[in-house]
Amino acid sequence: MLSSFLATRFQRTTGGLWRSLSSTAGVSTMLLVDHDNKHLSPTFFSAITASKKLGGEVSMFVAGHKCDSVVEECLSIDGISKVIVASDVLLEHPTAETMTPLLVAAQKQFSFSHILSNHSSFGKNIIPRLGAVLDVQPVADVVEIRAENHFVRPFYAGNALMELKVSEKPVILTIRPTAFEKHAKLDEKKGTVVEKMDFDAPKEAIGSEFVSMKVPEKGGRPDLSTAPIVVAGGRGVGSREKFEWVEKLADKLGAAVGATRAVVDAGGIISNDAQIGQTGKIIAPELYIGVGVSGAIQHVAGIKDSKVIVAINKDPEAPIFQVADFGLVADALKAVPELLEKL
Ligand SMILES: Cc1cc2nc3c(=O)[nH]c(=O)nc-3n(C[C@H](O)[C@H](O)[C@H](O)COP(=O)(O)OP(=O)(O)OC[C@H]3O[C@@H](n4cnc5c(N)ncnc54)[C@H](O)[C@@H]3O)c2cc1C
Repeated sequence: MLSSFLATRFQRTTGGLWRSLSSTAGVSTMLLVDHDNKHLSPTFFSAITASKKLGGEVSMFVAGHKCDSVVEECLSIDGISKVIVASDVLLEHPTAETMTPLLVAAQKQFSFSHILSNHSSFGKNIIPRLGAVLDVQPVADVVEIRAENHFVRPFYAGNALMELKVSEKPVILTIRPTAFEKHAKLDEKKGTVVEKMDFDAPKEAIGSEFVSMKVPEKGGRPDLSTAPIVVAGGRGVGSREKFEWVEKLADKLGAAVGATRAVVDAGGIISNDAQIGQTGKIIAPELYIGVGVSGAIQHVAGIKDSKVIVAINKDPEAPIFQVADFGLVADALKAVPELLEKL
C-alpha cells in the first residue's frame, strides 16, 4: 500500500510542552482545507461552520505548495486547535493519490473521530479514496448535522431526504456548502498550534501525476457556486448567439452565468463548469433567473435552495413554474431584451 512508502514526521512549531490535542473521548474533527495555495476557497467557510456543529476540537489539514498565506488565514479562524501543514511541490495540485497517504498518516497520529470536507470537486475527489483506504463508508453531501453521528442528506436528485446514524469511526463526511452558513468569526487569542508534516512519498509510488489544469474564462463574472445572483440559460435560448442575451442580462445584474445540461451538452455555447443541477453545481443564490429552462428535476435539484426563483418560459405548463416564486410566460428572446432596456 502506498502509505507504507510514506514516512511522516510531525514537528511542533510553537513553544510550550508537548500535549496531544486529539481527544481520547468525544469529538475531534480533521477539516480538509480547500484552497488555491493563496486563499481559502469561499465555500470552505461553510465547512468550518459544519465542523463546529459537530462539537469538540477542530483541526485543519492544509496540503499545498508555497501556501503560507493559506495557513495564515487558517490561523485567523477562531477556535481551531491545530493546523496540520504538508507542503511540497507535488501537493500544489493535490490529488486523491497524493492526499490519501498523508491523511491516513495524520489519522494514525491523531485518531480523529471525524474527517470532514466540502462536497466540492476537491472533497468529491479525495474523500472516496480516503474512505476506501480507511475502510469506512463516507456520508456524502450532508445538509444537516443533528448530532455527532446523526446526519441528513438528500437522495433521488434531492427529491427525498435521508436521515442516518453512523456507528463506525472515523465518521467521514462531505457537507453541502449551501446548506451551512459561512463562518465569519476571527480569532483574537491565536492559540492555534501548527504541526508540520513531511511528504516523503517517492514520486513513482504515487501512481498518478498532475499534468495541467485549465480554468475556463469567466469574463470577470462572479463564481457560480457563491454568486448572490445567477442567470441560467436553458435549451429554450438556443444557439451560442442567442445565449449572449443570457450573458448580457447577467452582466447587467452583476450575476454569474449558469446553464442546464442540455445547453452544456450541445457544445460550443458554454463550458461544462457552468452546469447547474444534480450532476453539476448546487447553488443557493439570493436570486436565480432561469431563461428558457424547463425545470427538469435534475436541474431543480441544483437551484431549489435559491431564495427567489424567477422563470421566463414560453410554455405555461413548464415544470419550472412549480418551483418559481415569479414566472413570466413569454418568448425569452423578446422578454430579455425588453428587460435589459428597463434595467
Ligand atoms: C442522470 C441525469 C443527470 C442530469 N443532470 C442534470 C443536471 O445536473 N443539470 C441539468 O440541467 N440537467 C440535468 N439532466 C438533464 C435534465 O433531465 C434535462 O434534460 C435538462 O435539464 C433540460 O434542459 P433544458 O431545460 O435546457 O431543456 P428542455 O427541457 O428542452 O427545456 C427547454 C425549455 O425552454 C422553453 N423554451 C423554448 N423556447 C423558448 C423561448 N423562445 N422562450 C422561452 N422559453 C422557451 C421550453 O418551453 C422548455 O420548457 C440530467 C439528466 C439525467 C438523466
